[in-house]
Amino acid sequence: MSCKHEEETVGNGKMPVPEDVQEAIRTLIRWAGDDPTREGLTDTPARVARAWKEYCQGYEEDPRVHLSRVFHEVGGYDEIVLLKDIPFQSHCEHHMAPIIGKAAIAYLPTDKVVGISKLARVLHGYARRLQIQERLTAEVAQCIWEELHPRGVAVVIEASHACMSARGVRTQGVGMVTSRVMGLFRSDHRSREEVLKLMGY
Ligand SMILES: [Zn+2]
Repeated sequence: MSCKHEEETVGNGKMPVPEDVQEAIRTLIRWAGDDPTREGLTDTPARVARAWKEYCQGYEEDPRVHLSRVFHEVGGYDEIVLLKDIPFQSHCEHHMAPIIGKAAIAYLPTDKVVGISKLARVLHGYARRLQIQERLTAEVAQCIWEELHPRGVAVVIEASHACMSARGVRTQGVGMVTSRVMGLFRSDHRSREEVLKLMGY
């Protein structure tokens, strides 16, 4: 690496933040109406930059890897596998504002299952990017569909968007619900009703 990093970030174990990135955040602070050189804001650019690396960690991974280790011994279990109330945080790509919500992820296994925590990892892998809720929902479902070849997949995401609650129309407490159902959950209305009921919808 040849780029110049801010001195203060080296040596204390923190990720170095390139000067141009910090300058961009100083520009934003100025634009917002404050003075980036005042004491309380001195370390803010580096902090914000590191926080954004964390919010967007998903770019560093391919969420599909979480589904590569499967268990074939399912003891004949072929009913719905459901993980619900999975909290997540993402950021909307239009305002870079937080999207905070929970997801329910279900699939109907064929001959293999994954460790249940892996479903949450897939969600976080796609959530830790700049997103829109509709695409996040679709990407999680598609990933499970392609990697596990289940008979059905259902993903329901309920979230509130800071770009709505904190600015613009300032609508508090409004949750947006998106869903993606595939396979049997799509073609068979009884299966769909069953999974949505289990999810609490
Ligand atoms: Zn937005």
